[in-house]
Amino acid sequence: MRSSLSSSSSSASSPSFNLKPSPTLSLSPLSHLPHSTHRSTLSHLLSLSSLPPSLSSTHYSLSLFHQINRPNTFASNSLIRCLAKSPNPSHSLHFYAHMRRIGIPTNNFTYPFVLQACSKGSLMPEGVQIHTHVLKFGFDRDLYVRNGLIGFYCACSDLGSSRRVFDGYPFVRDVVSWNVMIVGYARAGEICVAEKVFDDMPERDVVSWSSMIVGYVSNGMLEKSLKLFRQMIDKRLAVNEAALVTVLSASAQLGLLDYGSFVHESIKKLKFPLTINIGAALVDMYAKCGCVELSRQVFDDLPKKDVFAWNAMLCGLATHGLGKEALDLFERFTEEGFHPTNVTFVGVLNACSRAGLVNEGRQHFNSMIRDYGIEPEMEHYGCIVDLLGRAGLVNEAVKLIENMSIKPDPVLWGTLLGACKMHGLVELGVSIGSKLLELEPAHDGHYVLLAGIYAKAKKWDDVLKIRKLMANRGTNKSAGWSLIEAHGNVHKFVAGDKDHERSLEIYKKLEMIGLRLENAGYLPGISSVLHDIGDEDKIHVIKEHSERLAIAFGLMVIQVGYPIRIVKNLRVCVDCHEFSKMVAKVFDREIIVRDGSRFHHFKDGRCSCLDYW
Ligand code: ZN
Ligand code: ZN
Repeated sequence: MRSSLSSSSSSASSPSFNLKPSPTLSLSPLSHLPHSTHRSTLSHLLSLSSLPPSLSSTHYSLSLFHQINRPNTFASNSLIRCLAKSPNPSHSLHFYAHMRRIGIPTNNFTYPFVLQACSKGSLMPEGVQIHTHVLKFGFDRDLYVRNGLIGFYCACSDLGSSRRVFDGYPFVRDVVSWNVMIVGYARAGEICVAEKVFDDMPERDVVSWSSMIVGYVSNGMLEKSLKLFRQMIDKRLAVNEAALVTVLSASAQLGLLDYGSFVHESIKKLKFPLTINIGAALVDMYAKCGCVELSRQVFDDLPKKDVFAWNAMLCGLATHGLGKEALDLFERFTEEGFHPTNVTFVGVLNACSRAGLVNEGRQHFNSMIRDYGIEPEMEHYGCIVDLLGRAGLVNEAVKLIENMSIKPDPVLWGTLLGACKMHGLVELGVSIGSKLLELEPAHDGHYVLLAGIYAKAKKWDDVLKIRKLMANRGTNKSAGWSLIEAHGNVHKFVAGDKDHERSLEIYKKLEMIGLRLENAGYLPGISSVLHDIGDEDKIHVIKEHSERLAIAFGLMVIQVGYPIRIVKNLRVCVDCHEFSKMVAKVFDREIIVRDGSRFHHFKDGRCSCLDYW
């Protein structure tokens, strides 16, 4: 097989590298220099131009190179480096082939850059050829070349080859080699192997720690990532921005306020500069952990904010039901000359929906498309359908869905079904409900909603029919979980969970709560009409929904006077919503639940969502 990179190759299939600057190129400020200017001066300029932060344009570097009389290896390496960092890294390879063709010798500095180009462009066959050149010219014991090879194979997802290079000469590797392996395994989802590499490392630097932290996050192991971060701080290791942002976003995702605050405290203690990225991550973390006031405080104090910080604040205000404040913020956002993104509009439309501002919602939706050229996505439609549904404009919502540019998803119909139930629209509800049962026959939430609509209209026969249908189709609830943070630990519960070390106490507590609520006159919600008809298991399961276990545990361990904060992945069901309201009243506690779509602040027998979610 002829190699397209071999020096003898000048095949038509491999694009020849054009070293002559194109006539349209505007030449550099140096173009007035005579052609024969010092080779070394130009070479050094070229070398500088390949380094950040003065990373210059490819054209500039090429024009410099072109003016060098008889370029040597040093100058050629600099150009290879520039081209490797350019948006089109394959040019680097073409130049490498050219370099060899005209007989400029390569050295150990040539290969790391060429391999970088192969990694960046995921150029597997080319990189393998480079590997053979490395062996052929005897550079395979050079540390930087080996690291380049390890990185290249990782970038091309060939971890086996990467590992072979890594293990090849154990005495020729440094912390970079180990770090690359960690990143490679973590990206491939082999987090346990990455962990092993991390544990086996003779020495670790900040990159090792943050790579492992990021690795845990990207593999969904948020708790482990946070634990590692805590260790990093305890060991007084230097942290970098990437690690801080990653841990903050992990805290936000899980709604772990204690951890998030710990990260914030660490940032202050370390006197780490409040960069734009960290600022936005903090705003997002506090908003997603249910502390919208703190989020606002951080936001207002930020010396500089980018669109991400604005979006985080805007969406934060909206999910907490502070529609008016969110819209005021949006006005300031545009006044300050920012350009809204699709996320901005999710926040804006959400805010309109929470504040019941139908006209404003319609206007913003239209303006998003017309003035900002943003194509509405499912989330935008979701907000606007929610807005119209809440306001009772269900027919308008149906029309909107029917004219959508993308295929409506079941969640959207589900939102509408909720609106039908709320406004007692039996006929429309039944037609949407039937459609949903066809689309997602295994989703028991739809059956419950539809049965609720029949129940509201006192059509008990139909309730029964739906009940039977649900049993026959064997619906399965998608795995719901709830998290609660207590004394520095994260406790995760799934429905009917018996794994917790204090499980016995939790179930006893739950029983006690049930009795106290009963005495206080707690009436089961409408959906339990479904569960009343036989099927003991179902009642059982509902009683042990994950958030109830978390609430019971919260009552046991969270000090009186502090809110019980729970994060769950799915929407709160009607029964649990009612249950939470009653617990808040009877036990005089504040319960803050972040469910799949919004926050519920339960206090004094009421919820901030006003029973619409
Ligand atoms: Zn529930
Ligand atoms: Zn609520």
